[in-house]
Amino acid sequence: MQGLMMHYPLTVPSILDYGYRVFPNKEIISILPDKTRHCYTYTDLYKRSKKLMNALQHRLHVKQGDMIGTYAWNHYQHLELYFAVPGTGAVCHTINIRLSAIQTEFIVNNAEDKAIFVDATLVPFFENLAPLFATVEAYIILNAPKDFTTSLPNAIDYEDFIADAPDDTDWVTVDENDACAMCYTSGTTGLPKGVLYSHRSSWLHAVMMSLPNYADTSAEDRILVGVPQFHVMAWGIPYAAVLCGAVLVLPSSHLHPDPFIEIIINERVNKANGVPTIWQGIYAALKKHEAIDTFLLKEFLVGGAAMPPTLINNFQNEFGIKAVQAWGMTETSPVGTLSRLQPHHASLSDQEKIKIRALQGQEVPCVEIRIVTEDGIIAPRDGKTVGEIQIKGVWVISSYFKTISHENFSADGWFKTGDVGNINEEGYLQITDRTKDLIKSGGEWISSVALEVAIMAHPKVKEASVIAIPDELWTERPLAVIVLKNAGDILSLEELDAFLLPLFAKYQLPEKLSFVHEIPKTSVGKFDKKEMRRLYADGKL
Ligand code: ADP
Repeated sequence: MQGLMMHYPLTVPSILDYGYRVFPNKEIISILPDKTRHCYTYTDLYKRSKKLMNALQHRLHVKQGDMIGTYAWNHYQHLELYFAVPGTGAVCHTINIRLSAIQTEFIVNNAEDKAIFVDATLVPFFENLAPLFATVEAYIILNAPKDFTTSLPNAIDYEDFIADAPDDTDWVTVDENDACAMCYTSGTTGLPKGVLYSHRSSWLHAVMMSLPNYADTSAEDRILVGVPQFHVMAWGIPYAAVLCGAVLVLPSSHLHPDPFIEIIINERVNKANGVPTIWQGIYAALKKHEAIDTFLLKEFLVGGAAMPPTLINNFQNEFGIKAVQAWGMTETSPVGTLSRLQPHHASLSDQEKIKIRALQGQEVPCVEIRIVTEDGIIAPRDGKTVGEIQIKGVWVISSYFKTISHENFSADGWFKTGDVGNINEEGYLQITDRTKDLIKSGGEWISSVALEVAIMAHPKVKEASVIAIPDELWTERPLAVIVLKNAGDILSLEELDAFLLPLFAKYQLPEKLSFVHEIPKTSVGKFDKKEMRRLYADGKL
């Protein structure tokens, strides 16, 4: 027998409808790229998103299923796109601004973006690429100064684009399982793969993020979004905030420690988020800061890479600020686990508490995790048995965009994360290693395989392998282990970087080179990266 409840689709625009009805005067504050402060209300967000929806439909003829790209910082116009694009039934494709030209070209063509909304400060990068984009019909420029000009074809200023559009028509009716947004994740082969979120998955993820046990978002909060909006929809925080009536503070490109601290103070921010690298920088800057007493920041969400326990400890003990660690990935929308203490941990020593908070945390509702050992056995939750972390749930990927990749899923349908770890008796996950051949630097991926292929194309190189080496600030950096063709040759880091630069973003270039006679290999002849990491740790690379 079916229940007798209404069918009420969980669609992304209905998050905004709710925020507008219940919290019409709540504020959204943006510190724009030119540092001007912009502040408006949820009512303005609602009306302008409707105008944008209309402009998309009538000026660009956007229809259901179309892809609309964004190449932008964190600010209110980008937020309007988060609601208006799904409001037309189209997909909001947030493009990572840190990728190389070749990766960006691939992503835009693979997604078949119909139009791209680009921040004026980022336009120069796009001007050279535009002739390579096969499907882009128009560029809409965000935050353009008065005398702004560009060679981009069919470029329109954002404010002109929405100026005459009405603000009172209905969102397009969609199914809650339709796609609403897309982000690309770095593939181990070097080719990024699209992850397509649904209205329903985004809605339920936002509800989970508001629960007190997890991201604990409420109408009391003033949240600084330090995660770039192109990164897994800023971890879904904007959707959760609007659902809860929180004040959103969007810092555009000002994601460095000093401006970040200034914004936290000026805007009376009590919650924030970001990758460990940014918090490492903020900790160092805070130690020298005189206005720490005026700080209202009570806790921040940190993820994307492991947060060092000492940093969790230092924030807590020196500033009384709680670092709440979360684990997840683009394929999991992204939050899969989150680490908070339970009431029965209250009697533990400070050291023991930090140890628990440095774990990646407990699975969130609507998601299940398990550990599968190398022998294919589901590991007991004993805090010891290590294996691959697999996950399933409401906001976990079931298939990549346009890509068949059976190898990413178990026979019984769980997503294989490529992370390795264990789960303890209380359900806390701990990441201990990674099987995917990627390096994570400052929260951004570097494909070691793509680097190896490119380095081996250098005329002086016979063989090359790339591993991650630990780095205090960036978490990991790439080390290239190289065998030269001729023993007498000299290859400097500068020469290699110049060779690689057309193919990679600057942050993706190797940090160091290590020259060897032979690269360690496994019994089947693959590069033995475990052995290389061991040699590096022993000071032998
Ligand atoms: P995100 O935007 O969350 O960084 P990505 O898909 O780029 O998502 O990266 C996901 C990967 O980052 C995970 O598979 C894992 O290897 C690593 N990661 C994310 N969060 C953590 C964490 N808290 N601790 C350790 N590694 C993490």
